[in-house]
Amino acid sequence: MSKEAYQDDIFILRVQNWQTADKYAVCFSRSHGKIAFIAFGARYPRSTYGRLIQPFAQLSAQFTPGARIDTLRQCESLFLPETVDVETFAYGAVIAEVTENLTSEQEPEEEVYNLLLQAYRLLGERNKRIVTLSTLLKLLVCCGFTPELTACTSCHEEITKDGYFSLAQGGFLCAKCAIGDELRCSINTKKLMENLINLDFTKPQDFVVRGGELMQLEQILYKFILYQTDKSLKSLDFLGQIQDQYTKKV
Ligand SMILES: [Zn+2]
Repeated sequence: MSKEAYQDDIFILRVQNWQTADKYAVCFSRSHGKIAFIAFGARYPRSTYGRLIQPFAQLSAQFTPGARIDTLRQCESLFLPETVDVETFAYGAVIAEVTENLTSEQEPEEEVYNLLLQAYRLLGERNKRIVTLSTLLKLLVCCGFTPELTACTSCHEEITKDGYFSLAQGGFLCAKCAIGDELRCSINTKKLMENLINLDFTKPQDFVVRGGELMQLEQILYKFILYQTDKSLKSLDFLGQIQDQYTKKV
């Protein structure tokens, strides 16, 4: 592996304090895939780049590769989110955590980078819950975990009725092939899943979503992501608390 410094556009997924004055961060870059790095001295008040290293920031950055972890040399802002409301932050954190869990370091995937930029822009403009679910489904597709929805994953018959979603088979299972311990998946939930996978983020069209289908899709999606990554999502707890609060307010 080359030890020369490299430059890339990055999108910050997660930041945490490190030692006394440093920051540890994970980002997704345009040309180098996921990168974990240390920004030394980033927490000093006078650090010129320290304040730029925050969740969901888009930066142009230069790194020095290390044996165990890369080091940030310098960076400048491409786009810094304005004050993010707590709901946007909660949904944004779910997208960021799933991205981190589904991707590997040193595996460039420009499609994922572009998807993140579009998704975070849309979070401020459209229904955050729908944008998040659509982004997670698109991430699964980009990372090679496309849910199989065109036919039953076991008998390959066309889907015409309500059925199930098999985590192990990674797709729809008709009622005849199901053992019974799979997750329920109605034909409308399957259609919603397809609509959200194909949603055009450059000009998102409006469509009607029913609450029951949305909840069924969420249940399938989060269990499928857990099944593929074997990592539970910490950000979902926070989102759950936020959603409770909003539900109580209505
Ligand atoms: Zn079948």
